[in-house]
Amino acid sequence: MFDKIVIANRGEIALRILRTCKEMGIATVAVHSSADRDLKHVRLADESVCIGPPPSADSYLNIPAIISAAEVTDAMAIHPGYGFLAENADFAERVEQSGFAFIGPRPETIRLMGDKVSAIESMKASGVPCVPGSDGPLGDDPETNVKLARKIGYPIIIKAAAGGGGRGMRVVHSEAALLNAISLTRAEAQAAFGSDVVYMEKYLENPRHIEIQVLADQHGNAIHLAERDCSMQRRHQKVVEEAPAPGITPELRAEIGGRCAEACRKIGYRGAGTFEFLYENGEFYFIEMNTRVQVEHPVTEMITGVDLIKEQIRVAANEKLSYTQDDIIVRGHAFECRLNAEDPETFMPSPGTISQFHSPGGLGVRVDSHIYNGYRVPPYYDSMIGKLIVHGDSRETAMARMRTALGECVIEGIKTNIPLHQDIFSDAAFQAGGTNIHYLEKKLGL
Ligand code: ADP
Repeated sequence: MFDKIVIANRGEIALRILRTCKEMGIATVAVHSSADRDLKHVRLADESVCIGPPPSADSYLNIPAIISAAEVTDAMAIHPGYGFLAENADFAERVEQSGFAFIGPRPETIRLMGDKVSAIESMKASGVPCVPGSDGPLGDDPETNVKLARKIGYPIIIKAAAGGGGRGMRVVHSEAALLNAISLTRAEAQAAFGSDVVYMEKYLENPRHIEIQVLADQHGNAIHLAERDCSMQRRHQKVVEEAPAPGITPELRAEIGGRCAEACRKIGYRGAGTFEFLYENGEFYFIEMNTRVQVEHPVTEMITGVDLIKEQIRVAANEKLSYTQDDIIVRGHAFECRLNAEDPETFMPSPGTISQFHSPGGLGVRVDSHIYNGYRVPPYYDSMIGKLIVHGDSRETAMARMRTALGECVIEGIKTNIPLHQDIFSDAAFQAGGTNIHYLEKKLGL
């Protein structure tokens, strides 16, 4: 096992990783920007190294600075968390070439899944159901593209192969708009992602977003840890997540989860990962794979009792998974609210100093957050300041627990989206379960 790990991230996920390292008896190195000296995990880490000024490009995305921090502290491995460099194949490669373990999949796998066209091709070949589409990049011949769209049937969606973060997509409702939409998406993709490769998919009109968590080791073992429903979204950003997904039967879970685990074995996947699907009329359609731990991983941890970060670390150290598929039993129900420093109505970021923080608590309540009284939320990064997670023996109990926890949570000095969460948890359709990915925006009148 590793004796020291560099945590190449910030905020709540850095603290989350640090906690598991401490439990495992692994020393930690926090690397941080000059704006983040006061982060909770920086204070709690065994060592810390300032890797640059506030802008992410000069610090959290500064590959040479992170690798030299690992060198000077004599660490053995680097955990990238999520965001920043977590899905950067070049980073993973440089980490390994420098003699450190990368806590994540092999660089080739990250590259394969980072290109959505190759990801879909390989998933299709591995037996994972995908959205009907162009099955490859679009060419330049207008006639071929028009025919292809007709065959798929409108509405369709044009997507950038290198897209991410909900950007680089355009829905097309009629043939008249097709060619223009393809050129626009191409140009945008080139500007945003440095690649003008685009592809076409059937646009599903009212799907839910359901994703499968997987774990795989380097000894040929792969398991799934059930699903999460992340349909409560605004601008393709998840707001509330839950596990398991309402209405998914154990049989359906075993079927789709089994296919994902099998795909992991086929591609030689390593570590934790998520298969994202759109789910409509009882069918799953793969859209992409995330080759890292996700923000919403705690809801899976709550219903399975598995520490996903611990398994990531064990796998990276070439140990076997601690669990077989039969060990994974879904117990109860969990919700997560992403707490953001933002105006609950305009969604404008609200950085500043937290003058008062009272954390909710009690049975089945988990707060993954780096904030504390007097903590100053810097304006440079994502506005998420933590996650409120609850677990209960039923969906109803978990919901009531979340309402209680939201009511107890006090964060003063900055604006937060707690009122939005209270609104969601008192919404009748959400309470009934199974709302689709457009529900929140419609509710908000967007
Ligand atoms: P990103 O990598 O940018 O997150 P995804 O491929 O995961 O892109 O898609 C993000 C979101 O866009 C999905 O959660 C869904 O809301 C919408 N979307 C993507 N593909 C489709 C599709 N074929 N039909 C309907 N909605 C889609």
